[in-house]
Amino acid sequence: MNILILGSGGREHALAWATLQNPKCDKLIVAPGNAGIAQIADCASLDIMEGAAVVNFCEENSIDFVIVGPEAPLAAGVADDLRNAGFRVFGPSAAAAKLEASKAFTKEICDAAGAPTAGYGHFTEAEAARAYVKAQGAPIVIKADGLAAGKGVIIAMTEAEALAAVDEMFDGAFGDAGAEVVIEEFMEGEEASFFVLCDGENVLPIGTAQDHKRVGDGDTGPNTGGMGAYSPAPVLTDAIAEKALTEIIRPTMAEMARRGMPYQGVLYAGLMIKDGQPRLVEYNVRFGDPECQVLMMRLGAQAFDLMHAAADGRLAGMRVNWGADHAITVVMAAQGYPGSYKKGSEIKGLEALPEDSRNMVFHAGTTLKDGVMTATGGRVLNVTARGDTLAEAQARAYAMVDQIDWPEGFCRRDIGWRALG
Ligand code: ATP
Repeated sequence: MNILILGSGGREHALAWATLQNPKCDKLIVAPGNAGIAQIADCASLDIMEGAAVVNFCEENSIDFVIVGPEAPLAAGVADDLRNAGFRVFGPSAAAAKLEASKAFTKEICDAAGAPTAGYGHFTEAEAARAYVKAQGAPIVIKADGLAAGKGVIIAMTEAEALAAVDEMFDGAFGDAGAEVVIEEFMEGEEASFFVLCDGENVLPIGTAQDHKRVGDGDTGPNTGGMGAYSPAPVLTDAIAEKALTEIIRPTMAEMARRGMPYQGVLYAGLMIKDGQPRLVEYNVRFGDPECQVLMMRLGAQAFDLMHAAADGRLAGMRVNWGADHAITVVMAAQGYPGSYKKGSEIKGLEALPEDSRNMVFHAGTTLKDGVMTATGGRVLNVTARGDTLAEAQARAYAMVDQIDWPEGFCRRDIGWRALG
């Protein structure tokens, strides 16, 4: 099969790495890809937000199957364009991608599905939003409705902060994404990510993970796109996962199908867990980055068969072949991230690292310039390892980190701390 993966991050490197292990893959192209992906697959320059261009590319390159990595092309309807042109695609329609692209939409679906989530109000003008904040009090969570790259959520610990956030959003701080605002009850508990595949009707769990959002050790400092992750997440026990499936995920999928927008692709449920009860924080309509890296490490070659079955409506008969393993990924970022950082520093020592089914450095923001591996992003490398225990995986990941010669980079030294105690 000729396979195309859309995207350019560590997530897409991990998807490419797993897909290449599957004998069904004859040829793999990643668009636009990055320097690490280019070491294992062909990369093509392509505007992945332009459905017509992606369709043309698939026709010209005899592509049989497309995997869409990030949310933006999904929300823009690229999967619809491909399906309308007769291509098989892993990823939801633009209508179904609203589960990530609109927080108000997700809340409404949760209401209709009876799925446990934070109480909320949905506002299109500041005055009513301010009145709601005053009535509810703090702490309270103010969210821009649309996609804001993880920045459109403000956890307000005081009423004054909440009112300032409301004003900021209606003043256009997040552009169109903040034209509508969702205000939520603050939920306490421990967060974990639950990943399932959906084929429009059936749901198949493919793993749990925990991310590390803050930039500093001990979960300090500003939020980032994610500084590391591990899988499985022990806080998401089998019993809690089953509750999440029966109370949240399956009712959501049934409600989507009932509305004529069946969901096909990976669904990433962000859950808040307290006293054994999961509540939905958010849905994402794609793999998490860096969570995808640990999921792919654990699933290996079967990941492609599972994604293929989801796209074909064949999930009912599928099973995941689980190993009793643990995976961890440590993000190496450019100093200064998530604030301003320099681009163009050289990364040395990668060639000496092992690359096998238990050790892999996935690239997120790299470019090869005149034969020199160069950092060109904020989050740059995802140093990933699998082991029989989380402690073993963690030790191996940090041993690899320590061999990487990149003085302009940094990482957290405590990825996995929640699970390791
Ligand atoms: P991201 O893409 O970074 O996950 P997002 O913009 O999609 O973010 P959410 O996931 O809804 O936004 O919120 C971001 C983070 O804020 C959550 O991971 C969670 O830690 C916190 N959060 C969101 N809603 C609540 C809530 N109601 N109570 C407590 N914390 C919350």
